[in-house]
Amino acid sequence: MKHVVIIGNGISGITAARHIRKLSSHRITVISSETLHFYSRTALMYIYMGHMKYEHTKPYEDSFWKKNKIDLIYDHVIKVDTASRSLHLNSGATVLYDTLIIATGSTSNKFDWPGQNLKGVQSLYSYPDLRLMEESTKGAKQAVIVGGGLIGIEMAEMLLSKNIGVTFLVREPEFWSIVLPRQEASMISRHIRSHHVQLILDTELKTIQGDKDGNVKSVTTNKNKIIDCDFVGLTVGVSPNIRFLKDSTIETGSGVLVDEYLQTNIADVYAIGDCAERTYDLPGRKYIEQIWYTGRMMGEVVAQSVCGSKTRYEPGPWFNSAKFFDIEYQTYGNVMPELKSNEEDFYWEHASGLKALHVVWDKDTKEFRGINAFGLRLRHERFDIWLRQKKDIGFIIENLSETNFDPEFFVRHETEIIKEFFQQFPNLKIRIAS
Ligand SMILES: Cc1cc2nc3c(=O)[nH]c(=O)nc-3n(C[C@H](O)[C@H](O)[C@H](O)COP(=O)(O)OP(=O)(O)OC[C@H]3O[C@@H](n4cnc5c(N)ncnc54)[C@H](O)[C@@H]3O)c2cc1C
Repeated sequence: MKHVVIIGNGISGITAARHIRKLSSHRITVISSETLHFYSRTALMYIYMGHMKYEHTKPYEDSFWKKNKIDLIYDHVIKVDTASRSLHLNSGATVLYDTLIIATGSTSNKFDWPGQNLKGVQSLYSYPDLRLMEESTKGAKQAVIVGGGLIGIEMAEMLLSKNIGVTFLVREPEFWSIVLPRQEASMISRHIRSHHVQLILDTELKTIQGDKDGNVKSVTTNKNKIIDCDFVGLTVGVSPNIRFLKDSTIETGSGVLVDEYLQTNIADVYAIGDCAERTYDLPGRKYIEQIWYTGRMMGEVVAQSVCGSKTRYEPGPWFNSAKFFDIEYQTYGNVMPELKSNEEDFYWEHASGLKALHVVWDKDTKEFRGINAFGLRLRHERFDIWLRQKKDIGFIIENLSETNFDPEFFVRHETEIIKEFFQQFPNLKIRIAS
C-alpha cells in the first residue's frame, strides 16, 4: 500500500489528505507541529475577541481522522532525505514515505530590528502566537502595530476589542496601497482612523526599546518619534516556511519550486499552499499566493495527481476577500494599485465612505479586467465566468444589478453607479446601445 505523508495540517495539507482518502485507499499520515488537529487559521482573531472558542474553529470532529484512516503525528520535521524517502522528526522518530506532500505554510517576517525579541513583541500567525498574544496583552494599555496589511488590521481590531489603544505604523502613503489603488487605500485609511486607531503613514519601525525586565516599553520610528507602548505587533508579511529543507535535494527559491502539477524537482515530492512557488506563469497571478482558497485548490489538485490522474493546477481568475473593520472587501480579476498604460477605470464611492466600487478594463478592446467592491456583496461565480469569457465593460455595467447579493433590505446602489458611469463614459453607452 502506498504511504502518502503530508507535512502540515493547514487547509492545503488537510484538503489533500481528505481528497486522497476519497480517491484511494493509500495509507495517509499528516505531520504537524503546531496543533494535533486542523483548525481554521482565519478564525484566530475571533478566539481572541471571545466570539469563538478554539474548539469551534476545528472544521472536523476529533474522531473524523481515525474514522477516515488519516494518521496524525504531532511533531516537527527537521530533515527530509529524498534518497532514502525518509523524514526525521524532532522527537528522534523517522517516517518513511512513498509520496511526500510539503504543505508547511508560512512564517512571519521579521527584519532583525533591535529589540524584536523583547517580551510583548510578536507576530500573529499560529495558534501558539495567539495564546502568547492573549498573555502579553493582559493589562496592556497601548499597542503599536508595524505593517499595514491584512493581518495588521485584524490585529488592530483584536486589540481594540480589549480597549487597548492602537498606533499603526505603515510604510506606504496609505493603508495597503501596495495592493489597493489610491482611492480605496485612502478610503480604508479614513475608516481605520474612524475607529480611533492612530494611523501613522509613510513611517517605518527603527528600534524597539525595553525596560530593565526585558519588557517592551516603546518603539522609535525612522522619523525618530518615540511611541510608548506595552505591546508591539509585527505584521510585516509572511514568507514560505521552508527552512527545514535547506539541506535537502528539493529545489527552493523563496518557496518550494513546483511545476504545473505541483511537483518538485524530485519524483513523488509535491508542494502546495503558502509554501509553494510556481515556476510557470499564470496570467494575473503571483508565483507565491498566500491565501486560504489557493491552498484548498492546490490540495484538491495534488490529490488527483497522487491518485494517478495527473492534473494541472489552473486556478483561473484571481479572487480574494477580506474585512477592514466594518467594510467587507471582494476582488475579482486584476485591479492593480496603478493602472497599466492600456487600462481605463471607473471608481464610485458612496458619500458614507463605507462603500465603493472600482472597475478596470482594457482601453482598446474594452475587455473587463477586474473589479474591487467594498461594502457591497457581489457574486463570485458571475465574475469568474465573465472574466473567463472575456466580457467587455459594457456587459459588466449592464449586468451589474444581477451580481449583487446584499441581504434583503440593504440599500441598493446600482442605479446610481450606472448613471455615474455613463456620465463619465458616454461613448461606452453608445457602443453598448449600437
Ligand atoms: C491571522 C491570519 C488571518 C488570515 N486571514 C485570511 C483570510 O481572511 N483569507 C485568506 O484567504 N487567507 C487568510 N490568511 C492566510 C491563510 O490562513 C493561509 O494562506 C493558509 O492558512 C495557508 O494554508 P497552508 O495549509 O498552506 O499552511 P498553514 O495553514 O500555515 O499550515 C501549515 C502547517 O504546517 C506546520 N509546519 C510547518 N513546518 C513544519 C515542519 N517542518 N514540521 C511539522 N509541521 C510543520 C505549521 O506549523 C502549520 O501548522 C490569514 C492568515 C493569518 C495568519
